[in-house]
Amino acid sequence: MGLLTEGSPLSWEETKFLADHVRQHGVVQFINLYKRLRDRQGDVLKWGDEVEYMLVKFDHEKKVARVSLRASDVLNVLQEKEVKNPHGVKSLWRPEYGAYMVEGTPGKPYGGLLAHFNIVEANMKYRREEVVRLLNPGEVVMSLTSFPRLGCRDFTDPPAVPTPENGSSCSLFFPDEAIYPGHPRFKTLTRNIRQRRGSKVAINLPIFRDKKTPNPFVENLKALGDDGESTEAALPDHVYMDAMGFGMGCCCLQLTFQACNINEARTLYDQLTPLCPIMLALTAASPLHRGYVTDVDCRWNVISCSVDCRTKEERGEVPLKQNKFRIPKSRYDSIDSYLSPQGEKYNDVPLIYDKAIYEQLRDADIDHLLAQHIAHLFIRDSVSLFSEKVNQDDEQDTDHFENIQSTNWQTMRFKPPPPNSPIGWRVEFRPCEVQITDFENAAIVCFVVLLTRVILSYQLNFIIPISKVDENMKRAQKRDALSKEEFYFRKDITTCVSPPAATSCCQASDCSDVYTPMTVDQIINGKADEFPGLIPLINSYLSGMDVDADTHCTIQQYLKLIQRRASGDLQTTASWIRQFVRSHPDYRYDSVVSERINYDLLTQIHGIQTGEIPCPELLGTCLQSKTQESIPAAVEKAEAMNGECC
Ligand code: ADP
Ligand code: MG
Ligand code: MG
Ligand code: MG
Ligand code: MG
Repeated sequence: MGLLTEGSPLSWEETKFLADHVRQHGVVQFINLYKRLRDRQGDVLKWGDEVEYMLVKFDHEKKVARVSLRASDVLNVLQEKEVKNPHGVKSLWRPEYGAYMVEGTPGKPYGGLLAHFNIVEANMKYRREEVVRLLNPGEVVMSLTSFPRLGCRDFTDPPAVPTPENGSSCSLFFPDEAIYPGHPRFKTLTRNIRQRRGSKVAINLPIFRDKKTPNPFVENLKALGDDGESTEAALPDHVYMDAMGFGMGCCCLQLTFQACNINEARTLYDQLTPLCPIMLALTAASPLHRGYVTDVDCRWNVISCSVDCRTKEERGEVPLKQNKFRIPKSRYDSIDSYLSPQGEKYNDVPLIYDKAIYEQLRDADIDHLLAQHIAHLFIRDSVSLFSEKVNQDDEQDTDHFENIQSTNWQTMRFKPPPPNSPIGWRVEFRPCEVQITDFENAAIVCFVVLLTRVILSYQLNFIIPISKVDENMKRAQKRDALSKEEFYFRKDITTCVSPPAATSCCQASDCSDVYTPMTVDQIINGKADEFPGLIPLINSYLSGMDVDADTHCTIQQYLKLIQRRASGDLQTTASWIRQFVRSHPDYRYDSVVSERINYDLLTQIHGIQTGEIPCPELLGTCLQSKTQESIPAAVEKAEAMNGECC
């Protein structure tokens, strides 16, 4: 998303009326784009990360921590440099859903040199420092997946009061002031999703049952102004949330890769798909929601439910009358189909799509897999439309396509080249939770990028049936999934790389001999005589490369962190947070995260992030990279000459 252009949002009624218009033109725009760009070749690996941050305000006297609703002010200054010099900045800043959130990316994508791994963390640090310079006394910037007391009384600075009877969310807990005010997109999405659904969104997370948690755990929502809707939607023994902000107000870590052509992009999309739940479990960082300890470790389900615009008919609660389809998943969820020929026979989940759109795409000479993917995205209505964008030139513009594409928030995103740009076919990897320190975030980023190189060089194959990836997504979010769960993973990742022949390793009807349950430790570190492990594969790949000493050291530190997290030697962020709360002197074993616990937890996390507080349980004692601001000229030259591109 570029700098968001201002515009006038249409009402939900107007947007709904134009749903078919957006779809029809969106599909034509995709077809035109595809015709222009299908044969685009020779793009090189480029990649970049996106880190989302929260602004938090401490009141050290009262010992409370709140989200600071100053993102818009801060962002205006952060973006000044880019406005003056769009191509010469070291970082780019974008708004995010929360009025307390900002998103930062590197100014330019990284390239294929191994030495680039050594500047990722320094760039993350630089970004953080840029924000820090703009903060008021008591404010800090944190890469925190979920704010523990989001939606509790007075969780914002300045204070704001929820308005259950009106506004965008109509939430009992989340005031509209906590939604980013600088662009109408966010409030419009909130209102339209709620209106399309026909009720507020409903998020129910199982509560973490502790020694003194009320049994059953049921809240009096009427006392907060509920007219009955929330009381009905809230499940007993669950933490109930009723607004888009609870999900979209979480922070995450994303990665985008450019492929050399459309086919490589399909391969990466498919091969990274089975890794999504594994990386979700490995990066789990959000056990606390709305002031309670929950029984899950990740944000994924929260965010999925937080934008679930499906009607009762679409959810299958009443017979279809007005709507066209029963839709099994929210528009924010894991992907439903593979895109490459290797993936085709593992598409074992019935795909809902519009037959007419599918035929239109097929008639335009788009293959079955891509056509069904696009037709599946297009089962959704537009949930945000601006008057300036209604009428477009379908030969040149892609806004209607992007309108639907960018509100299908899935684990992976297949990104076509933007019009009139030097950018190629890309895929985005979207499951990861953001970690406390730049070191950890850089480690995750470098691990995933290296994995893409290994996948392509060794022609690895991770594909398992989509239904098993779905099952893995469920397991990944459970409490302590990393140590307690097993995940379906492909047994033999070195075979079956070429498009399936008659003698292929599995038949469409039965792929059960292809995968086996494994722990994250086994997947990452290997299992004797049975599975090589992702880190050993990366190391074997790296051993054939000539890499400068500093970069080598940095990469090894990152891989060690991943290895030790996977093995359970180091804690996940989620289990560390859970343990901190449960061992806090104020904790009453009732699953409640009090103001004081919240304050102490966030001060501790901030200290860990700055390095002032050591945290060997999370980071080990000796893990430190040699990250630097820029690549020494000699290293860059040597790598480029030796062709040491990863
Ligand atoms: P979105 O929010 O739609 O995912 P952003 O613009 O926020 O997109 O982030 C895009 C990411 O892609 C950034 O990390 C950026 O560095 C990276 N990027 C930019 N250009 C390219 C490119 N040509 N190839 C791969 N990645 C790119
Ligand atoms: Mg972004
Ligand atoms: Mg985005
Ligand atoms: Mg974002
Ligand atoms: Mg993104």
